[in-house]
Order: sequence, then C-alpha cells, then structure tokens
Amino acid sequence: MKNSKNILVTGGAGYIGSHACKALSRAGYTPVAYDNLIFGHRAAVKWGPLVEADIADREKLDHALSAYRPLAVMHFAAFAYVGESVENPGKYYRNNVAGSLCLLEALRDHGIGRIIFSSTCATYGVPETVPLKEDHPQRPINPYGYSKTVIEQMLKDFDAAHGMRFICLRYFNAAGADPEGELGEDHDPETHLIPLVLGAAAGKKERLTIFGDDYDTPDGTCIRDYIHVEDLARAHVLGLKALESGAPSSIYNLGNGKGFSVKQVLDAALEITGRKIPVQLGPRRPGDSPCLVGDSRKIIRELGWRPRLNSLDKIIETSWRWHQHHPEGF
Ligand code: UDP
Repeated sequence: MKNSKNILVTGGAGYIGSHACKALSRAGYTPVAYDNLIFGHRAAVKWGPLVEADIADREKLDHALSAYRPLAVMHFAAFAYVGESVENPGKYYRNNVAGSLCLLEALRDHGIGRIIFSSTCATYGVPETVPLKEDHPQRPINPYGYSKTVIEQMLKDFDAAHGMRFICLRYFNAAGADPEGELGEDHDPETHLIPLVLGAAAGKKERLTIFGDDYDTPDGTCIRDYIHVEDLARAHVLGLKALESGAPSSIYNLGNGKGFSVKQVLDAALEITGRKIPVQLGPRRPGDSPCLVGDSRKIIRELGWRPRLNSLDKIIETSWRWHQHHPEGF
C-alpha cells in the first residue's frame, strides 16, 4: 500500500476529483480516492483504491494516511451547491470548513506538507474588473464562496505555522467530460447549466429555466467562463509537480478568459446537438454574480499550463457524448 507515488484525492469519486485521478494515473501517480460517496460514484474510481470515508472522520483519515503515506493531497471534497448554501449555510460551514480543518490537522500530524486545493471564483463575489486576476479582492456573496475563502485562509495560516505548502486553484465553471468517454458529470440533483441544457436537449428534462435576463450584460443573462474538466485536472498535476520540486505556495485562477452568457450556451448547444431545447424565463437565482471571467495568465506563465479543450464547442461536445452514452449517469 505504501507507494512513494500515492496521492490522496479527497472527493476522488466526484466529478472533478475523478478526472484528476485519471490525470494523476496517466502522469505515473497512484490516486487514492477518499470519498464518503454522498455525491461521488463508486464507478468513477478506476485508477486506484477507494477509501469510503468522510474528511471529518479523523480516525479514518489517520488510518488512510498511515496506510498509504501519500506524498501529497488533492482536496476536492466539498458541498458545492451555491443555492443550497444560501438556504442552509450551516451545512456548508460544517462540511467544507470544519471538514477541511480536520483534514489539515491530520496532514500536519502525519507530516504531509503538500496540498492542492480546489477553490473557486465564487470567492471573488461581484467583480470590480473583468477578467478577474488572483489579487482581486475576495468578497464572496454566498456561504459556499465564504466557506472556500475561509479554507484558503486556513491554508495560508497552516503554511506559515507548519510549512504546509499549498497550490490553490480557483476554478471558473468546470464543464465537459473525459474525451475518452470514461468519466462525466453526474450530479444528483443537477444544477449546472450545461448538463441541464443537454438534459433538456435529450428530452430528459422538460425545459431549461433561464435564471434572469435583466442582468447588466449584453443579452441580460449571466456570463461565465467555462473550463474543460480535463484541462482543470491537468492543472492539478502541474501544481503537484511544482510542489514536489519545492515551489512555494501559490494561488492560481483556472479559466479560459472568455465569457459566455446563458443564451450563448443555449445557442451553442442547439448547434451541437441539433435538438430543440425548450426554455422558459425564471427569476434570478440568489447568490449569482452577473459576470465571472478569469485571467489565468499566471498559471500559464508559472506552471506552463496549456488548456487543450478551450472552446465552448469542445466542452459541450464532450459533455453531449457522455450524456448520450450514459443517459442515467454512472
Ligand atoms: N443557470 C440558468 N439556469 C439553470 C442553471 C444555471 O440560467 O438551470 C445559469 C446560472 O444562473 C449561472 C450560469 O447558468 O448564471 C451557470 O450556472 P451554474 O450553476 O452552471 O454554475 P455557477 O456559475 O453557479 O457555478
């Protein structure tokens, strides 16, 4: 079990975590997925062992860390529904913040000093300038974003006190599916735009509701920067390699630097699927920022990240393929 290339991947059975496990395996590491399977899927764990446990369970963490002696941790495990976090903030602070604290203390006690953390552009709140750079003020507008901001602060403090180096990756909107068709997005409930649009195109969902068309954007709908999940996964491996070669802690945005409105996503999906996508207009969703687009030049410059699937069409195409082959998910 002890292998100098073990990487503990919390949330390794989830959407982004499972793609990271595949990327790790391809890069010669052994991903050890650590997942409570509340949202993760056993079938998404294909490139290493699965430890079925919660990050807030110190005993199980201790056991996994002693058994596998990972050289680093990739920390994805979190609740990530913005709307739910507004309605039930306690759930988010308990799971995301308290759970991450338990993980960090366990890592400290086991002498594991490298962590790659899955953060989010939701930590910025409403942008003052777009595209957003890493030094943009962080004023989250929902408890999910706050929970990730608090974890970022904990990482800085643990680094200062214990020398635990971190790479913090602030994702914009993760989307798409493994181009080889082995993995894809399967959330229950699904709240993300692209899978919902494709669900409506496939006739699985009656219609897509556009959450507000009165934003201060060119077509009135919210703008997001969609990034392919495989490009995200590869960025985690680059972060890991940087930490392995002694790089200091850093924070990076991960997006494509191009924003697409909800209506533009619908148009692209219509083109790719060739299907009718029934839509209706609904009210704004609480906690939504009008426009989130990232400036990712720092990770391109410092870690040599090169997004390969960086067009909305490629993102929707891979997602559509997954959708068609796995209409019921995993
Ligand atoms: N959205 C929408 N209808 C839906 C789901 C999402 O209009 O059924 C919009 C949402 O308001 C946001 C964008 O699509 O502006 C992306 O939302 P998603 O939940 O995919 O990601 P988020 O930006 O919240 O992380």
